[in-house]
Amino acid sequence: MAISVEEALRLIREDAVPLGNEAVSLEHLAGRVLAEDLSADRPFPPYDRIMMDGVALNADAFEAGQRIFPVQEFQPAGMSPVTLQSPGHCIEIATGASLPLGCNAVVMYEQLNIKDGAAHILCDDIRHGQHIHPQASDRKQGDIIAPRGFICGAAEVGAAATVGKSTVTVVRQPRIVFVTTGDELVDVDITPAPHQIRKSNAYALGALFGFPTSVSHLPDNRGKLSQFFETASTDFDVIVLCGAVSKGKRDFVPEVLSELGATQVFHGVHQRPGKPMWFGRLGDTRIFGLPGNPVSTFLCGLRYLHAWIGKAQGIPPFVQTARLTEAVTFEPALTYFLQVKLQDGKAIPVPGRGSGDHANLVDADGFLELPADRNHFTIGERFPVHPYRRQSL
Ligand code: AMP
Ligand code: MG
Repeated sequence: MAISVEEALRLIREDAVPLGNEAVSLEHLAGRVLAEDLSADRPFPPYDRIMMDGVALNADAFEAGQRIFPVQEFQPAGMSPVTLQSPGHCIEIATGASLPLGCNAVVMYEQLNIKDGAAHILCDDIRHGQHIHPQASDRKQGDIIAPRGFICGAAEVGAAATVGKSTVTVVRQPRIVFVTTGDELVDVDITPAPHQIRKSNAYALGALFGFPTSVSHLPDNRGKLSQFFETASTDFDVIVLCGAVSKGKRDFVPEVLSELGATQVFHGVHQRPGKPMWFGRLGDTRIFGLPGNPVSTFLCGLRYLHAWIGKAQGIPPFVQTARLTEAVTFEPALTYFLQVKLQDGKAIPVPGRGSGDHANLVDADGFLELPADRNHFTIGERFPVHPYRRQSL
């Protein structure tokens, strides 16, 4: 008995469990979920940091009327702070250096002239503390910069490096194998006979999830399927099959899984595309049986596998919405995942050719989710959208 999209998602989220943690190096941190807090190992900034190239001096001397300050020495960035020997001198200083002892302001080169070893100050006013970024003004030692559960992007990779973490503990990603099935399929680098097609689904899914996955292929053969399930269920957290879950004579997947004692969570979702989808467990391994039609496989991966992985990683569901740019009618009592182009929050329907092929997916940017309990959808109405394309670099 087929179930609704909402029920399928609820069951998938309920099933998804955390997979433990692992350590990754900074190069592999982007996109991962923190399993530890990233905290400041020292104050931010760690010392009174000079923010301009120029001279450091004692502003009290300037206030007392002094305008020419002999340069005591130059202190580059990376040198321990020197000490100002007399309040009447100054120190040439570089951005990023630590404030010299005895100084309390910085005057930038643009506001002075260096002549005969002395800085001639040209400005009328010097504020105490100017161009100095005070120690600990951004974060105190021990402050949390990014909490566990946070999804790391480029900013967090930078923060981890700043606090001295060359490896970071993150939530483990599932070990997934994508399996194509079907006697009509041939390898990508082979010229297919007129009655054959190339395996494309597993590559598209692999690219959709963007982390190391395995790819395998099985013929439409009960024994081979059965053998595969027995070994793969020990090696992988998730097996994703493309094809052989429908009602065809050689759609052996549901039957073989049942013979092996797998738990079927559901078979069939009231949706187009992807109606025959199967989901269940064999031991601890999750099995997604996705209909083989490329757009169906793609949509089911995007909507359901994505939801399972997200929940297992502790990422809260996030659904974008977009507005229809034209009226759409869809009579069957199914959730309709309409292929759309996305532009400034608007969803422009792409005329479909049924479930189509990968060329069809290239024409669109995502799927607009039109609910099953309605048939007519009007211009300007907002619906959940599932994009699969970055809009820009
Ligand atoms: P099935 O779900 O096995 O009945 O397959 C449905 C349709 O999808 C058939 O036309 C298959 O040839 C096609 N198909 C199945 N698997 C793949 C694949 N890996 N790549 C491209 N097309 C596929
Ligand atoms: Mg097939």
